[in-house]
Amino acid sequence: MSVPVPEYEVVTTWRVHCDGGEGALGHPRVYYSVDRDDGHVECGYCDKLFVHDSFAAEVLPKFGIAVKS
Ligand SMILES: [Zn+2]
Repeated sequence: MSVPVPEYEVVTTWRVHCDGGEGALGHPRVYYSVDRDDGHVECGYCDKLFVHDSFAAEVLPKFGIAVKS
């Protein structure tokens, strides 16, 4: 069995927000700071993963996400 790839977004800012988008995953808008040591943060509501661009090659494979070249 493979682990499903989480919803994620590669971002270029250290400050991100998430509202879960449309539909069932929607939630109040919340703001997060991407961790500058490990390069990612997960939304506490919908588990969406935000990965900073400079950490993408390092972090994405840990979550089973293929890095786009
Ligand atoms: Zn969210």
